This record gives sequence, structure tokens and C-alpha cells, in this order.
Amino acid sequence: MDSSKAIGFLTDIKYLKGVGSKRAELYHKLGIDTVSALLHFYPREYEDWSRTVSIAEAPFDEKCCIKAIVGHDAVEYRIRKGMTLYKTSVTDGQSVMNITIFNNKYAAARLKTGEELLFFGKVGGTFLRREMNSPLIAKAVSGEKIRPIYRQTQGINSALTEKLMSQAVSCIKDNMHDFLPEYIREKYSLLPYGEALKKIHFPSSFEDVEKARKRLVFNELFTLQLGMIRLKGRNRQQTSCSIKKDFSDEFFSLLPFSPTGAQKRAVEDAVRDMFLSVPMSRLVQGDVGSGKTAVAAAVIYTAAKNALQSSMMAPTEILARQHYKSLTDFFKGTDVKCGLLTGSMTKKEKDEIKSKLESGEIQVVVGTHALIQSDVKFRNLGLVITDEQHRFGVEQRSALAEKGKNPHTLVMSATPIPRTLALIIYGDLDISILDEFPPGRHPVETYCVQGKLHKRVYNFIKKHLDEGRQAYAVCPLVEEGDTDLISAEEYAHKLAEGEFRDYTVGLIHGKMKSAQKDEVMEAFAAGKIQILVATTVIEVGVDVPNAAVMVIENAERFGLSQLHQLRGRIGRGKHKSTCILISDAQNPDTKERLKVMCQTCDGFKIADEDLRLRGPGDFFGSRQHGLPGLKLASTLTDTSFLAVTRDAAQETWKWDPLLEKPEHSGIKKAVDALFKSAGENIFN
Ligand code: ADP
Ligand code: MG
Repeated sequence: MDSSKAIGFLTDIKYLKGVGSKRAELYHKLGIDTVSALLHFYPREYEDWSRTVSIAEAPFDEKCCIKAIVGHDAVEYRIRKGMTLYKTSVTDGQSVMNITIFNNKYAAARLKTGEELLFFGKVGGTFLRREMNSPLIAKAVSGEKIRPIYRQTQGINSALTEKLMSQAVSCIKDNMHDFLPEYIREKYSLLPYGEALKKIHFPSSFEDVEKARKRLVFNELFTLQLGMIRLKGRNRQQTSCSIKKDFSDEFFSLLPFSPTGAQKRAVEDAVRDMFLSVPMSRLVQGDVGSGKTAVAAAVIYTAAKNALQSSMMAPTEILARQHYKSLTDFFKGTDVKCGLLTGSMTKKEKDEIKSKLESGEIQVVVGTHALIQSDVKFRNLGLVITDEQHRFGVEQRSALAEKGKNPHTLVMSATPIPRTLALIIYGDLDISILDEFPPGRHPVETYCVQGKLHKRVYNFIKKHLDEGRQAYAVCPLVEEGDTDLISAEEYAHKLAEGEFRDYTVGLIHGKMKSAQKDEVMEAFAAGKIQILVATTVIEVGVDVPNAAVMVIENAERFGLSQLHQLRGRIGRGKHKSTCILISDAQNPDTKERLKVMCQTCDGFKIADEDLRLRGPGDFFGSRQHGLPGLKLASTLTDTSFLAVTRDAAQETWKWDPLLEKPEHSGIKKAVDALFKSAGENIFN
């Protein structure tokens, strides 16, 4: 093993003290191979051992540190095989607190009469009889610190990571190169990079943590936004796909309804883009049910009438089929012909569609990822549409676009996000928003009830099932560590064997293969399943108009936007629909969040409220945003910082769009690396 002197950023972590090849392997699984990668593995939270509180003042249900003297040696209670408790009581001179330790002989051995120790954990019990279960225990010495807590996995605990980290930070030199030029650091009062890295791991105060975090979040957002601006600029190459005439009014006249004002505006935006000699790059954002398909159809129709083919990609097979059906209905009686291309079709069927696309016999193809395959060729692809629940990832979108010569692209998203965030997440696109619903849509009535009312909720559902409706039961969101599979299955089993034994119960969850999921969704759509137990996979927009009830268990565990997406699965038909949120949460903030759901069905309002209450973390944190490299930004609570980083990125870009100035070489490298990790070459 090397001495720490030789450690540098690029050193393989297996050369750190305390890491052998076996542990190195475990770290590799977390994406950590070098010292540099380790330094970017940020603490999940911190333990504040630097400040102690008295037993009487300790907050309930919040971690804190208490200095106290052990009253008597811990007493051992053997509850059953494999379960031993150790109990003692401690005092800080004023109050007494009970301590219980589970199965940890080693920790219990430290609890000796008269020892003064630090106990770190959550205080529970009652005001008169306070207790702490399984606290962390340390000797009471002066100079206790704020300790970083890292994500743990099998074989890697936080203390080990902390130990390695202290070796890793030792290779940060004071004069370490900082890729942010001084003028930016000064303007936004940012710590030097090396200092921020040190302080995020080993802060001496929470002020340090904040400062370090600010600098590191700035790195992430600034780099991301510069890349996005660059992507947007790069898409602006010349295109031969510009149109000569607007046919959207002709299309609208074919519709059995009149378009909403918002639909008209979105189509106008898109058509205006397509007249230009640079390709369109536009996002149409609209809540579920706002009529995005008709917007897409109007744009496709206009393209087709201008002799341009269109390709529309959906995230799932069943959605692709749904779009295909909608488009075929819209284009009935016109000369615009559609085809469908999905993975489950036979080779013969696929070949037929492919040859018709290549010959130009059909103008529109709707499909899944199958559309990206290299043998799918077009005669004259002019418009690429992706229907994204979240982001498909830039690279898939561009793979599709490469089948034409700089075709126009239109992205449709049903996730309402506040504008400030949309500018970051979709910074490479222009945005049209559908903020108006077609007439005749009933808002979903929403109630929040406590778990003790389960019985009544079930009866309410049964009543609707008996009337011929269908229902969704969204099962409890499992916390990290549990597996999705077990919980969803158990829950479905419980309903099928118990309350709903006289009904058909189906199950859909994220660990199922997509063909399996489609099968279940189709059975549900066909009415063969009455109550569908689901995890959040039903967020993806399949239309089952007969589903009029949804119950969501442990509603407090979901983000507001997610609840809104889930709720969007009902209220799609002519029946009045009801959503019941079950939650026993006592926390006033949580209650306030759930109340928002009961008050409005406006996705943008809900998203704004979510942003206000929880910060952007929830949006960035959602696994599927497809944005590269956001680690700390997901812990951001200060929304105004989004605008700050955006301004900074724009300023730098205006001054040096290709990042060619020497002081920007570091930024350029960072942007390049970030987007390469997402499969995108920014500066070619
Ligand atoms: P989204 O994809 O935005 O969730 P859809 O495009 O599936 O919504 O539209 C939802 C339903 O509303 C469809 O049945 C569609 O035909 C219908 N619809 C769309 N626009 C209008 C409109 N302007 N007036 C009446 N119905 C509409
Ligand atoms: Mg849709």
C-alpha cells in the first residue's frame, strides 16, 4: 500500500489505507474508482456532535447529541433467540433518560456506571419518561465535531468512507486549480473549489457546509446550463426541412371539437418555427388531458402537407399504440397515412412499415424505441416528436433526429414544472405551455383521510366497482432498502385475499418486464381487472376512462408533482372521479402539502407549490429527469439560486460562446465531460 504522500486525484482508491481489492470493488459499484470520484461522493447528511443539548430541551424526533452520565451498568434482557436488549438510564444532572440498545453487545459494554458519554440519536418517549433507542455512543471529550454521514451499502459503512475521505482530502492542495475563473468566483462570492471540497466533507460549522454546498451546486448548475445553451445553439444549423405553407387551420377543421386557445397557440408557435431555415426545437408542456396529441397531430399534418415525414416516439408500447390510434382517427379521410412500429410486431409487419417509410408511402410513423434502430429509414424525415414522461435523454432524441437532415423536433411533456426549472431541465428547447383544458373535464375530487378509515375507503371503492367503474390502488412507497417487488405483491395479495376477494385484483410494478406491464395495462383497459394495485409505474399515461377511483397509500411519502401525475390517471372519462389520499402524517408541513392536492387540480400551481415547499430537490431528484451530473443540486433549497446560475451561464456564454478564452478552458473541459457522460458531444 502507498503512503498518503503519493496520493493524487487520479490514484485508484484501492491504494488508500483500509481499502483492499474487495472493498475497492464495493466502491466501484457506487461509481467510485479514483480519489477524485471519492471526493465527489458527498455526505448525505451530518451529525452534529459539536453541540449538546440537555435531556429536557432535546427536540422530539430529531437527531441531537446529549452528554450524560450512565446511572448503572446496562442490564441484559434476552427477549427471544436473536433478540437481546440492553437497558440503562442516564442523567445530565437534571433529568433522566432511558437508553435501549438492540443486539449490540459491544455498544452495551460501554454503558458502565458513572461513565460520561455522548449519546447521539432521536429522543422519544414521553415528556416525563424520555428515551433514546440505539443511540450512537462516543466518549465525551472536548472538540467534538460535525461528522459527515455517507450513503451506506453492503460492506461499506459511513465510518469507513469517512476514514478514506480524510486521506482523500489530504491531496487537495491550497493552490489547486479551480476551473471557475476568478471573476465569477468573486461576483458570486464562491469558495475556491478545493476549499469547498474539503469543507463539504469536514466542516467546522454548518455555515461551512452551506458555503461549500453553494459552491458545489454552482458547479453543477453552471456547467449544466452552459451545456444546454450550447446544445440549443448547435441545433440551430441550417435545415432543408422548412415548410412553405401552414395547414393547421385545415387540420383543425377536421376535428370533431374546436381547439383550445392554448392548443392553437402551441401549434402556431411550432408552425412559425418550421417556416424558418433552422430546425425547430420546441417543448410542449401540458398537464395530462390538456390535449397534447391534437397539437402534435396538427404539426404532423402541416409537415405532411409540406411533403415532410414525421416520426413520433412514445416511452411504452401501449402508449405508442394509443397515439397511433388517435392519429389515424384524426387523419381519417385525408391522404395522410400512418404506420405503427413497435418491438412486439412480427418481422414481416415491421419490414412492411419500414419499406413504406423508405418509399414515402406513409408520412407518419408512431412507435417505441424500435424507431431508433438503424434499419429504419425515411424518404424525407422532417419532424421528430417525442412524448416524454420525463426526459428521454438527449441522446435518444438526437438518434431519432439523425435519420433526417436536421429535422424539426417537438418534445411533449406531461410533467408540469415551474418555468424556472423548465429553463434548466429543458434549457435546450423553446417552450410552449398548454395551460388550458378542453371543456367538459371534471376536476378529480380529492380527499385526505387517516389510515383508520381504511374500511370506509374500501367500501367506497367497492360501491364504485359495483357500479361498473374501475379503481387504482397505489401501494405504499417503500423506503430505501426495502424492495419494491415484495411490498407491491404483498399489498395486492392482501387486497385480493381480504377486502376485495370478490373482485378481480391486478398488479403492476416497476420490476415487471415491459411486455408484462403492457399486458396488465391492457387487461385493465379492457375491463378484465377491476382494481389495479400499482406502484408509481402507472404515472406513464395510459388512458382508461372507466377508472374513476384512486386510493394512494402513505400519500405523505410522495412528492406533490408525483401525486398529481398519479391522480391524472383518473378523471379521464365521463364519470365523476375521486382520489383518496391516505396518510397518518402529523407533521404540519406534510399536512399542508397534502391539502394543496385537495384544493387544486392545476398541475402548474401544484408544481409551484411543491417548489415553494420543498425546493427543487424533488424535481432534480426524480431519477428519470435524465440530466447528467446533478448530485448536490438535488439538495438545493434556495430556488433563487437557479436563476443566479442561469444568469452566470448566460453571461459567460454571451462573452465567449465557444468557451475559447484561456480562462474558460477549465469550464469547457467540465461541460464537455458532463455531457459526454450523457452521450452527447457538445463541442464538435
Ligand atoms: P394529453 O396527451 O395532453 O394528456 P390527450 O391528447 O390524450 O391529452 O387528450 C385528452 C382527450 O381530450 C382526448 O380524448 C382528446 O381527443 C380530447 N381533446 C383534445 N383537445 C380537445 C379539445 N380542444 N376539445 C375537446 N376535446 C379535446
Ligand atoms: Mg398524451
